[in-house]
Amino acid sequence: MTHQFDTLAIHAGTAPDPATGARQVPIYQTTAYVFRDADHAAKLFNLAEVGYIYSRLTNPTISALANRVCALEGGAGAICCSSGHAAQIMALFPLMAPGRNVVASTRLYGGTIQQFSNTIRKFGWSAKFVDFDDPKAIEAAIDGDTRAIFCETICNPGGAISDLDAIARVADQAGLPLIVDNTTATPYLCRPIEHGATLVVHSATKYLTGNGTVTGGVVVDSGKFNWSASDKFPSLSQPEPAYHGLVFHPTLGGMAFTFHSIAIGLRDLGMTMNPQGAHYTLMGIETLSLRMQRHVQNAQMVAEWLEGDARVEKVGYAGLASNPYHVLSRKITPNGAGALFTVAVKGGYDACVKLVDSVKLFSHVANLGDTRSLIIHPASTTHRQLSEDAPVAAWAAPNVIRLSIGIEDVRDIIADLDQALTAATQ
Ligand SMILES: *Cc1c(COP(=O)(O)O)cnc(C)c1O
Repeated sequence: MTHQFDTLAIHAGTAPDPATGARQVPIYQTTAYVFRDADHAAKLFNLAEVGYIYSRLTNPTISALANRVCALEGGAGAICCSSGHAAQIMALFPLMAPGRNVVASTRLYGGTIQQFSNTIRKFGWSAKFVDFDDPKAIEAAIDGDTRAIFCETICNPGGAISDLDAIARVADQAGLPLIVDNTTATPYLCRPIEHGATLVVHSATKYLTGNGTVTGGVVVDSGKFNWSASDKFPSLSQPEPAYHGLVFHPTLGGMAFTFHSIAIGLRDLGMTMNPQGAHYTLMGIETLSLRMQRHVQNAQMVAEWLEGDARVEKVGYAGLASNPYHVLSRKITPNGAGALFTVAVKGGYDACVKLVDSVKLFSHVANLGDTRSLIIHPASTTHRQLSEDAPVAAWAAPNVIRLSIGIEDVRDIIADLDQALTAATQ
């Protein structure tokens, strides 16, 4: 029996604990699992039987979370990892090799731009950044060494929406997997696999957990990509030397990516989630639908209020009819355009600094996707390394702040911004 989204958010991946009947998912705080006998152990190591060996690979609490997020995204398999950034490496790992590249959107979370610009070069991988509003630019950037296409559903922090259907068509034609970072939308607002994504990555740190308590990540595989259609993905389609010559794709079909990620990715990279973190995220997801409804409702009202305010120059929220991504947001995120957006304030850099110093309800933090409303001024924090005359993206301009709208009473959120804007611009 398949259930609706709101039911899956509470039930998917879990059943009463087989050992104790515990209704809530227990925190299996254990490193290892006793084998029934030598034959059982051999079968587990040969992937001839699925079971628990060691918690760097799998753990019942973490598996429950993987299965829940997998169900919500409509995937075939999923793996959890230690952070959103770990999820990105884990998604690329089975696909890439030295000399290979990923074609990525210019509109990505700053930390991802950093990871893709510099750190992955240590593995011999590289990224080519292009404007994903232009499918032709993506097509032009793809070369013989490209192994993946990467974008975000709702781009952090600019609030742009990616046309996943159009991007997936380009990926399809090139025979490449599309990886979508769905952190800021969550599966409540968008299910990228339904728009053609191969893999979905999450920072569970944000809306999935929802209250700023956990650092975690998830990779969901659609199970639909044919890794054997070309010779581009030998780790999945050819005998894998890292696992005594197992050929993952034909042997494991739609679960090939997931098993590779556990048996080799987690085994050797060790970017494992911890059971307590998985438990908090499971608790968070139980209320995902309710929270996201309130997040987008509040964000819409705050954005509309700000747009009508004389102290504000511009509001970058796709939920507003004036926004260039408004029509696209109806297709990609029909339940709301998220709760993360930027605001250009009259009075420039100094007014923005005063604004973040004047808020009382908002928290001045680098996080997003918390029940609490959050604020940051990129130009004086995350992007202060940029030199004065370096070209900056619109969202990192000196007069721009980023808001992550929480689920408090919207009247209190607006009142706080109102008094802080007064203090900042008078
Ligand atoms: C925060 C974030 C990440 C990184 O996640 P961590 O859990 O902080 O490692 C990746 N992508 C997006 C869109 C994010 O907002």
